[in-house]
Amino acid sequence: MILTDIHTHSTFSADGETPLADMVAAARKKGLGYFGVSEHFDYDYIPAGLTYEGGKPVRTDGEGYFASARALQAQVNDGSFTFLAGCELGYTDDASVQLRYRELIKKYSPDFVVNSVHTCDGADCWYGAYFGGKERRVAYTRYLERVLQSLSAPYRYDIVAHVGYVSRNAPYADPKLRYDEFKELYDEILRGVISRGKILEVNSSARGAGSAFLPDADVLGAYFRLGGRRVSFASDAHCADRICAGRESVVRALRDIGFTHITVPVADGEVKVPICV
Ligand SMILES: [Zn+2]
Ligand SMILES: [Zn+2]
Repeated sequence: MILTDIHTHSTFSADGETPLADMVAAARKKGLGYFGVSEHFDYDYIPAGLTYEGGKPVRTDGEGYFASARALQAQVNDGSFTFLAGCELGYTDDASVQLRYRELIKKYSPDFVVNSVHTCDGADCWYGAYFGGKERRVAYTRYLERVLQSLSAPYRYDIVAHVGYVSRNAPYADPKLRYDEFKELYDEILRGVISRGKILEVNSSARGAGSAFLPDADVLGAYFRLGGRRVSFASDAHCADRICAGRESVVRALRDIGFTHITVPVADGEVKVPICV
């Protein structure tokens, strides 16, 4: 059995808790075959005028991160363990930010790129400001429309991350973002993922989403029915303890739907890892 966890964060991200070298060492110790770190580059915050909690500026030290990551790769990568140096790019339709992302990709050639929607309507969907004055249906529709738009990002990306992020911290009695409620939009998103040859991430950091992972099995089932076969597993760990957290329930659900492989984007292509529970 080969364990994979592609999409995690170290202290190079503002909200990471474990230094990069310790994250990599912990992943090795846990016996992972493929371990991907994807530091936040939340430049989508900039045109929205947002800052991190406590007013911290939006800045990830790309130079320091990729230099450290490449040095670590030279030390630890061998036939049984591969550490992948990736990045998570917060989508925005702002052209100047999109250009910055293109330049970042060109400069550092990340091993994989995670395309994420965190912000919508000028707010991060994690925070109350996004939901203020919005009915549940509107808040979720606006978010899913943004995800659909993000698929056309004019730069390279490999993974479509945590679809359903908006429900992680939503203030509703019933936060679950169900496929049946937003079938048309979901189908458009899932078809877009498939037609572009992207990987749909299954993220076990669901928090208060009313699901064990994002997107939940109803959405993954629809993706499979539409012909989607490329999925990745992500704990979205921000500390070493959470690496691979929730993996078992994700792979069981994937297997029950009919998926046979986890797809891992690597620097020069991709690897298909058989799903084993
Ligand atoms: Zn994210
Ligand atoms: Zn993340």
